[in-house]
Amino acid sequence: MSKDYYAALGVEKNATQDEIKKAFRKKAHKYHPDKATGDEAKFKEVNEAYQVLGDEGKRQQYDQFGSNFDQQGGFGGGAGWEDFMNAARGGGGFGNGGVQFDFGGIDLGDLFGFGGGRSRSRGKARGRDVQMDIEITFEEAVFGVEKELKVQKNNACDVCDGKGAEPGSTTKTCDECKGQGQVTRVQQTMFGPMQSAHTCNICHGTGSVPEKTCKHCGGDGTVRSESKFTVKIPAGIDNGQSIRLSGKGEFPGTGGVAGDMYVVVHVKESKQFERKGSDIYLDLEVSYPQAVLGDTIEIDTLEGKKKFVVPSGTKSHQEFRLRGLGIERLQRSGKGDMFVTVIVYIPKKVSKKAKKLIEELQSELEK
Ligand SMILES: [Zn+2]
Ligand SMILES: [Zn+2]
Repeated sequence: MSKDYYAALGVEKNATQDEIKKAFRKKAHKYHPDKATGDEAKFKEVNEAYQVLGDEGKRQQYDQFGSNFDQQGGFGGGAGWEDFMNAARGGGGFGNGGVQFDFGGIDLGDLFGFGGGRSRSRGKARGRDVQMDIEITFEEAVFGVEKELKVQKNNACDVCDGKGAEPGSTTKTCDECKGQGQVTRVQQTMFGPMQSAHTCNICHGTGSVPEKTCKHCGGDGTVRSESKFTVKIPAGIDNGQSIRLSGKGEFPGTGGVAGDMYVVVHVKESKQFERKGSDIYLDLEVSYPQAVLGDTIEIDTLEGKKKFVVPSGTKSHQEFRLRGLGIERLQRSGKGDMFVTVIVYIPKKVSKKAKKLIEELQSELEK
């Protein structure tokens, strides 16, 4: 059966690449499995259609031969999906405060997020990555904190340890693949017979199956349950940065490996300090006499109260740098700095006496 990729994307046969790209984005957003409107089957269909129609060469072949071509390893059927998802995952790398993936000229960051999706054709199935968001205080971000998290997800069955076998049960060679873990199919294509290998879907590539399946999970090796774990948030973490906990994502079932957990940290703002990277900023209001004559004022720092000397003759908005009183630098040693901006406070109303004194001062300064 030939698939109608144009219908899958809802575009005309003569659609431009731009129209195809737009249609794909729209549909992929709609059917993304993490969305309320999600539909994994539709999502894959849309993706498959785009992989073909989004590439002029493949589109021409498709127009000529139909999609039967692609099911025989030309595109889509083989490593396509896995490569696609790997690209979307971007190797799990997170920069400072954001994820940007790039694939085929389309920014998939917003589209796929931390999209899991099983890799089907190569090696072991990998469970979905899980994202969790946590909010911490400014102080917790500065000094580091440990948080206990709870999440409902697919975990390895604790009775059979994810293997799908009743404890104590022996295993036997998988009949389907004769213990190879892979099944080879030969299909007739327009290029002649072609062989393609697929992971055995009975033993999931392990080559053996249990004599008796685990009653707790029904042999899947996975159960939905609540996991609790502690995440160590390092001192110096900034808003939007995330921590990857390798292997704490979902377990895909027998023969698979768990995905990763991404804990995205949201840091509440401080009432006193403004933060830029590892530096902090404090505004300090002083009176005109304090600015002119100088003064020693107690200020809040991350290390508690400290005496700060306002030198005589300080201008309003003059900035002072207090080295090493900032926030610990992540992945580097040392701390950032603290910047104190002295702001000369001008009162709106003054007492009669103060007014008189200021007028005297004014005439004195004019001399
Ligand atoms: Zn089990
Ligand atoms: Zn097998």
